[in-house]
Amino acid sequence: MRLTGDTMAFLADSLARIKPSPTIAVTDKARALKAAGRDVIGLGAGEPDFDTPDNIKQAAIQAIRGGKASKYTAVDGIPELKAAIARKFKRENGLDYKPSQITVGTGGKQVLYNALMCTLNPGDEVIIPAPYWVSYPDIVLLSGATPVPVVTKVEDGFKMKPEALERAITPKTKWLIFNSPSNPTGAAYTRAEVKAITDVLLKHPHVWLLTDDMYEHLVYDDFAFFTPVQVEPSLYERTLTLNGFSKAYCMTGWRLGYAGAPEFLIKAMATLQSQSTTNPNAAAQWAGVEALDGPQDFIPKHNAIFKERRDLCVSMLNQTKGIHCPKPEGAFYVYPTCEGTMGKTAPSGKTLATDEDFVTELLEAEGVAVVQGTAFGLGPAFRISYATATDVLEEACRRIQRFCGSLR
Ligand code: PLP
Repeated sequence: MRLTGDTMAFLADSLARIKPSPTIAVTDKARALKAAGRDVIGLGAGEPDFDTPDNIKQAAIQAIRGGKASKYTAVDGIPELKAAIARKFKRENGLDYKPSQITVGTGGKQVLYNALMCTLNPGDEVIIPAPYWVSYPDIVLLSGATPVPVVTKVEDGFKMKPEALERAITPKTKWLIFNSPSNPTGAAYTRAEVKAITDVLLKHPHVWLLTDDMYEHLVYDDFAFFTPVQVEPSLYERTLTLNGFSKAYCMTGWRLGYAGAPEFLIKAMATLQSQSTTNPNAAAQWAGVEALDGPQDFIPKHNAIFKERRDLCVSMLNQTKGIHCPKPEGAFYVYPTCEGTMGKTAPSGKTLATDEDFVTELLEAEGVAVVQGTAFGLGPAFRISYATATDVLEEACRRIQRFCGSLR
């Protein structure tokens, strides 16, 4: 069938409020250029370059062979996985969540989506520190509610000050979305910094906390991670603690994430999920049990490599004309500012007016794909994902140096 007339009118109004993920767009563009024969280094994708550990793969294979992955499962997770998640929350975070307070979805993204869709009405506000992970504001917009970005400063290490949170809270505020270590900046809040944020929330009992702990394990230099409810247990009744397997367990393709929260919210989320994707992939769930209960020794090994790459990026970028790169505590991103390059002219003759110009010209001139900071709510800057082979990363930084050196 050929669509005629105004095809836009056929689409839902809510779709006009959101855009395709800019990080996926950059990754696709780099992939297309590579396929066309260009020498491109893609630093856009937010996923580890390491393969899923073998014991985790074997658990899925066994589940498939043993017939445990052939049928629908319980909508929001098999009991074995919920039990493993409950043990994880207790062991690593000191949190008590019963299986009935745990949900499992197709990636942390679906769990986040479920939580926001189940709680937001038009007019509600959601506070999101910026720079933010691009999906937060768009999912809020899709629900009809309003994202309220709180823009942080590079000199504060991209961490939200408690006064700024206080100023952003209104009677309409429903959630604060808190993400430490952060995508896209890698910034992670110390225990004292978390406490300063939870102290503000204590004064505003109507505000719920959605803490996205996806990068919990990816911290360097002996940084100690604390999830907010560990620091302020009295927020337990109004917190959703989101986590997943994608980053620390190198399982982005498996699509598995989870959360702990009050039971009524978990039940509502299961209802929504039952009318969309039903259960997360059964084999992936069995892999998830092994990921949480099995050996964890690959995590510090990966972290030693990530730390080396972070230090390499920070050092090389800080020796680059017009670039300033703060040293983040965690995740696998750096977020250099490129203010010093604005107004300069690229080899193509184009004058750089925005960070989008910067990343476009960098890709054109040197074949390095990064994501512009304005996509994450704070520019002029760009995000580098350093989850890529160290020698490739070094070459990419050399190309960025050459590009910035060529600006006139
Ligand atoms: N939260 C943050 C901050 C992320 O960066 C991501 C993935 O990029 C997610 C959540 C969702 O991860 P997944 O859906 O792969 O579990």
